[in-house]
Amino acid sequence: MIEDKNQKRTPLSELGEFGLIEHLTKNFKTEQPSSLKGIGDDAAVIDFKDKKTVVSTDLLIEGVHFDLSYVPLKHLGYKAVMVNLSDIYAMNALPTQITVSIAISNRFPLEALEELYEGIALASKLYKVDVIGGDTTTSNKGLTISITALGIADEEEIVYRNGANPGDLLVVTGDVGGAYLGLQVLEREKEVFKVNPNNQPDLSLYTYIIERQLKPESRKDIPPLLKQLEVKPTAMIDISDGLSSEIMHLCKQSNVGCNVYEDKIPLDPQVISTCEEFDINSTTVALSGGEDYELLFTIAQADFPKIKANPHLTIIGHMTEEKEGIHLISRANTKIPLKAQGWNPLKN
Ligand SMILES: [Mg+2]
Repeated sequence: MIEDKNQKRTPLSELGEFGLIEHLTKNFKTEQPSSLKGIGDDAAVIDFKDKKTVVSTDLLIEGVHFDLSYVPLKHLGYKAVMVNLSDIYAMNALPTQITVSIAISNRFPLEALEELYEGIALASKLYKVDVIGGDTTTSNKGLTISITALGIADEEEIVYRNGANPGDLLVVTGDVGGAYLGLQVLEREKEVFKVNPNNQPDLSLYTYIIERQLKPESRKDIPPLLKQLEVKPTAMIDISDGLSSEIMHLCKQSNVGCNVYEDKIPLDPQVISTCEEFDINSTTVALSGGEDYELLFTIAQADFPKIKANPHLTIIGHMTEEKEGIHLISRANTKIPLKAQGWNPLKN
């Protein structure tokens, strides 16, 4: 879309750095009572009173984390915010503010940046976080986005990665594997497009998984749901790199082992059918795919009655003594050691 000849293209140099920030952020208003001062001074001022502050940062680099030949900039802006908020929810906290920093080459016109900021603005509005600062600068090549998210929680509500105990149940929200498969479909269409640019792809069979890749949502509903169910997880993490590597993080930090049951892993029907079409194993995709931005957590067995039959939550295994190791129990009831594989090794 950046190459679209019919679109208006205003060179960034026309505004200058100062004018650019002002132009992009002029519609951002602060809504959170804790945001005493947002954009417009040398620094933002925040007052969290008696709450604890949680902070998380992510860096997204063109060509490494995203490919602009099939990722619309508005979606990219939205996703960049989601990636960060997901980490705040994974602490069982509530995100309140973000800062957005962008390095951009002059191949992008102002209109491209406006689209990116539209996505950022939409995400901030829907998730009720204030954009309180950031920086915009030129890069020699490509686009880089760094977002820092701030959030709040009462100290006793914060959930770390290191609290899981042997016997705890392992729970995942939603379903997994969709985002990775959506990426596979988009990569395939990109190759088809290279050969025949007039080809209009029919992506109607893949709407769910493409949305999981291009416009993921983070699970803002889960911390309040857990509170309502009166369940405090013993450990929690979000699924950015893939179910298996996140399980390994929880195990390593909590000094426990784990058995994960292949037949319990929640898969969307579209994930199953697309796996068949691509002739790839759906369990491999679920374990190694990544970018699902679901939450993975452990709970005490005593809390089982509180979460059972909840449509958002699936029990996929249980924690064991550390010396028992980390295993996948296959459908054929064989015990396979789990390996950490992010989506990059899988891709290669
Ligand atoms: Mg995380």
